[in-house]
This record gives sequence, structure tokens and C-alpha cells, in this order.
Amino acid sequence: MSAKGLNYEQNRRWTSENKDRKEKYDANYYDSNKDKVLEKTKKYSKEHPEVQRLASKKSSLKFPEKVLARRILNKALQNCTISKPDRCETCGEKNSVHGHHEDYNKPLEVIWLCVNCHSSYHRKLRQQLNQKLEEIGRDNK
Ligand SMILES: [Zn+2]
Ligand SMILES: [Zn+2]
Repeated sequence: MSAKGLNYEQNRRWTSENKDRKEKYDANYYDSNKDKVLEKTKKYSKEHPEVQRLASKKSSLKFPEKVLARRILNKALQNCTISKPDRCETCGEKNSVHGHHEDYNKPLEVIWLCVNCHSSYHRKLRQQLNQKLEEIGRDNK
């Protein structure tokens, strides 16, 4: 290998090693400044409520039927058209029970789940969806 080639190799290695170091440094920076970063974000959204509004508008535009279903459900709860049980339907946990919609087109048909069961339920749904997508992908090959 010529001297020039060696230099090139060294240079390349140095760059990639330092890239690693920089990424680690950034991660450390975030870790040790998490509170500051969060504070900054909070402060920012406080000072710019319009950005916050826009963000929530964006997500509601993405899932309009979801937002509508939630709104109808809340109204029904307020009017006592339906009542919210104080226990999770799956595990009986009493803390903060959420209404889960199987079908957003049926806003009053909900399953009442605690936070834990709700998130694991959604995880299961996602897994099933991924499985289905994989199957479809296989069939198309
Ligand atoms: Zn849900
Ligand atoms: Zn539960």
C-alpha cells in the first residue's frame, strides 16, 4: 500500500470512529439534559399555543372518525346515556378505565379497559395487523 493509500485509510477510520463518538455524545447530552429539553419544549408550546393547536388539528385530521367517536362517547357519558364502569373489563383493575373503540363507526360500543390492558390490547392489534400485512406480502410474491 502506498503512503497516500494509508493516509486515506487512516482518515476514513478516524472519521467513522469520531462519528460514533459524536452520536454517543449526542445521546449523553440528551440524557443529562432531558429535563432541560423537556422544559424547553413545554415553554415553547406555552408560548406558541397556535403550534400546539395545529399539531392536535393535524392528528385529528389523520383520524377524524376516531376523534368524532371519542367526542360522541364523551357526550353520551355526560348525558348519562351510557355509564362508565369503574373496573377494567379484562383484569378488574379499578384505576383510570378507558373506553376502547373496536369500530369508530359505532362510537357507543366500547370496551372498558384499564391503561395496562388498553395498551397491551393495542399492541396485540398491531401485531395482528403486521402479521396480516406480512401474509398479504407473501401471497403477492
Ligand atoms: Zn383503544
Ligand atoms: Zn385491565
